[in-house]
Amino acid sequence: MKTLVDSILTKGILTKDDLVYLLSTKEEKEKHSLFRKANQVKKEHCGNVVYLRGLIELSNICRKDCNYCGIRKSNEKVVRYTLPEDEVIDRALFALRRDFGSVVIQSGERTDRVFIDMLTRVIKAIRERSEGTLGITLSCGEQSLETYQQWFDAGAHRYLLRIETSSEELFRKIHPDNEFHRFEDRMQALENLRKAGFQTGTGVMIGLPGQTPENLADDLLFFRSFDIDMIGMGPYIPHADTPMAGWKTRLLKPADRFELSLRMIALARIMLKDVNIAASTALQTLDPDGRIKAILAGANVFMPNMTPKIYAGDYNLYEGKPQVIDDPMIIVNELEKRLRGLGESIGYSKWGDSKHFFKRVIKN
Ligand code: SAH
Ligand code: SF4
Repeated sequence: MKTLVDSILTKGILTKDDLVYLLSTKEEKEKHSLFRKANQVKKEHCGNVVYLRGLIELSNICRKDCNYCGIRKSNEKVVRYTLPEDEVIDRALFALRRDFGSVVIQSGERTDRVFIDMLTRVIKAIRERSEGTLGITLSCGEQSLETYQQWFDAGAHRYLLRIETSSEELFRKIHPDNEFHRFEDRMQALENLRKAGFQTGTGVMIGLPGQTPENLADDLLFFRSFDIDMIGMGPYIPHADTPMAGWKTRLLKPADRFELSLRMIALARIMLKDVNIAASTALQTLDPDGRIKAILAGANVFMPNMTPKIYAGDYNLYEGKPQVIDDPMIIVNELEKRLRGLGESIGYSKWGDSKHFFKRVIKN
């Protein structure tokens, strides 16, 4: 028998009310309809393929003080590091040898010239030494248009900058009130990424204290109206050494935050169809099977951590972040085994770009 969710999902365009309903329904049957539909849409628009990105956490030095983040500038307990250039390049080439099509270079937000030029050299070296075969995604925070352009021209082609929440009011609550943390600057940065030529990704944290289903529905509508190419989103997970740790009592239970995150992924897939959606690491913190469940709910990008072990322990955005293991192929092989039974495969050595990006570029 058709559920209410089935009839909502057969409509062409979902309204805010539909989204709020789909995020909130407690009916098991309806939940399954949602995930099933998302998986169908993924297969139809992106195929049955999951793309790999080796995640390299370049530096935990950050000029910002986001109230939720463990490596915020004011956390004096953090041992700060920046990976030496040759180690970043080394990790990228390791990813290439393991048939990863791409790397993601993520970092605390640094806008100093030394950092900007160092990353430019690293991008160029990765492009040269992989003979152009390794894709490069960046996630290094808000930068000027000139910096984005410099990194794009050096050879990076995708960039992830989460809006964190599309509600300006909630954004103000989870950030300090100063010139480093302005909602309008975040928006402008997203515009600038697109101007520079990047496949542009964004995302939000899910289950923030005070966040409502209406806020999350607005987030999805924001992804649609901004015509975003990629999405990286996951549950909010508290970190003891942050101002938001004290807000724990207002948090949804971990299992509910996890479930809400899966629904957001499923809805993003159903609404946006051909964008790339990552199965974020934070999902795995709340459920050991979290990333597989995310793939079944519509995600198509998987990002094993390849940061050298001695540094990775100092890149703690939130508590309980999974440990880095020596050989990411253990995780990939496990993923492959699981996917095989589900009719999905891994896109080894493929960039796995956002199909949506190219459709938009051709259209314009
Ligand atoms: N500095 C860059 C990239 C590193 S942070 C930036 O901020 O864009 C990457 C993402 O980690 C952030 O966008 C945020 O959404 C997420 N993050 C930070 N603290 C978190 C927490 N406590 N729980 C879940 N995600 C968190
Ligand atoms: Fe810095 Fe990013 Fe953490 Fe904010 S979320 S404090 S910008 S690393």
